[in-house]
Amino acid sequence: MTGNISLAQGREYLAIPGPSVMPEEVLRAMHRPAPNIYAGALIDMMPGLTADLRRMARTEHDVAIYIANGHGVWEAALANTIAPGELVLIPASGRFSHGWSEMARGLGAETQIIDFGKSDPWDMDRIAEALRADTEHRIKAVLAVHVDTSSSIRNDVPGLRKLLDELEHPALLMADCIASFGCDVFEMDAWGVDVMVTACQKGLMVPPGVGFVYFNEKAASKRAAMPRVSWYWDWVPRANPDEFFQYFGGTAPTHHLYGLRAALDLIHGEGIEHVWARHAKLARAIWAACEVWAEGGDLVLNVADPAFRSHAVTALRLDSGKGTALRQWTEQTLGLTLGIGLGMAAPGDPARDKFFRLGHMGHLNGQMVMGLLGGIQAGLTALNVPHGKGALEAAACVIAS
Ligand SMILES: *Cc1c(COP(=O)(O)O)cnc(C)c1O
Repeated sequence: MTGNISLAQGREYLAIPGPSVMPEEVLRAMHRPAPNIYAGALIDMMPGLTADLRRMARTEHDVAIYIANGHGVWEAALANTIAPGELVLIPASGRFSHGWSEMARGLGAETQIIDFGKSDPWDMDRIAEALRADTEHRIKAVLAVHVDTSSSIRNDVPGLRKLLDELEHPALLMADCIASFGCDVFEMDAWGVDVMVTACQKGLMVPPGVGFVYFNEKAASKRAAMPRVSWYWDWVPRANPDEFFQYFGGTAPTHHLYGLRAALDLIHGEGIEHVWARHAKLARAIWAACEVWAEGGDLVLNVADPAFRSHAVTALRLDSGKGTALRQWTEQTLGLTLGIGLGMAAPGDPARDKFFRLGHMGHLNGQMVMGLLGGIQAGLTALNVPHGKGALEAAACVIAS
């Protein structure tokens, strides 16, 4: 027997920050013949589905559904609210904030970016400065990425609302909750979020392909004042359709809707507050292990302050440059796939090989997290990466507490 025999045979584990692990319930719900889209179960399902989507976001307001990934709902949200030439403010703490701002520019908006780098959360004082300087209220919206999946920073969305209110700035607060939805606490109405975008393939545990835009009355009035909105992106008929096809601007994403129904049943069956608490505890177990490994001087958690760490994704690096090697080792040897680093180093830069991420969103329990951590520890050992001892014990203590 050689030392490096593959142990990958068996059920694989995709621990990347989306798509996330798909529950059997979701997959089974999708495994069916094509349903009638003109009458019957699918149509009857819609009011309950949108009610449960609203319940999950803690909102009484509207939700529009799109056959789209996260990029699609980014565009949908902007297409309904921001006219060409209007200005949006983007406090950026990672690649996804820049991605949303690029999309805004593509639609003819002007963008003002406050860049906090790749490891730091928003600095509210700098955002306040920008808002205060905007005496003419040219800024029509603040594009706020709640959890930036590239950096794993979780930003203070309610704090941003407070700031806008204190400064009496009328800009819409638009939140990207694509990574955080169903993982980190989010309360649209209590937090005063005007527009929220999310997608189904992360905390919602459904294969990629459906996205959502939530909006309140303030956002609806901005939509009403728009010179024009493209027929396909218009959220008005989607949120309040007279006909079934209007929910989707055409043919329904039939199987995704059944998968989504099953996922919402799982989430509300567990209870959203319990779902949040489970993610918080599992994230703490992961951080505990990472902090012990970090004592070896090679592994670094991208976000230093736990208060600003996402409960859905953790961005890490190995300063020795063995991040890519670790991912390859766990995938080939263990059937455990870790996430690549994203947006941390330019293409072609050898530093890219330092970075990797752990997805811990959605259909995730304690034994999976212990398996994930055990697999990483085996990889660190196999690759001779110096690491502190006792990481699994530290994680087990969190889980046992
Ligand atoms: C995944 C993600 C996106 C992009 O979603 P796609 O479905 O890949 O288009 C945008 N923002 C955040 C925060 C994400 O996590």
